[in-house]
Amino acid sequence: MRSGYGWLHQNFRGGGPPPTLPRRYIINIFTTQRGHLSAEDVFTKVQKLYPRTGFATVYRTLDLLRREGILRRFEFGDGRARYELADQNFHHHHLVCRQCGRIINYSDFTKEEEELFRRIEKALKKKYDFAIDSHQLHFYGLCARCQKSKKEEL
Ligand SMILES: [Zn+2]
Ligand SMILES: [Zn+2]
Ligand SMILES: [Zn+2]
Repeated sequence: MRSGYGWLHQNFRGGGPPPTLPRRYIINIFTTQRGHLSAEDVFTKVQKLYPRTGFATVYRTLDLLRREGILRRFEFGDGRARYELADQNFHHHHLVCRQCGRIINYSDFTKEEEELFRRIEKALKKKYDFAIDSHQLHFYGLCARCQKSKKEEL
């Protein structure tokens, strides 16, 4: 007899969670936190609920979600790539602290900023005949907290 939940039993037969669950769970991690997470960060979170999931699975899933355009991958120069939700409705730039690795999103652009980026994109399009559809911008430096601790050291 085939019950309506037959597929569920089939998926669970391997002993692990159904293959689609970590994927959905990973997307959920990003939607609830709006964070910039490394593969290690995501792995730690997944492990709490799905201890059987290996790092390779998490990494593969992140890469798949990136290729599907659901996640964006950033290299911030510290050797640990970060991922975040690729939400078109939340265009923002990054302030990256070189010391503590904190990443601040900002989207409260001034009129001058928006005007400047429009002008830059227009100029680039003309110069390289390149149809720009998006951009990413990261500023590097020290966050307020790290500037303070640096001063206290002196
Ligand atoms: Zn921008
Ligand atoms: Zn900092
Ligand atoms: Zn961000």
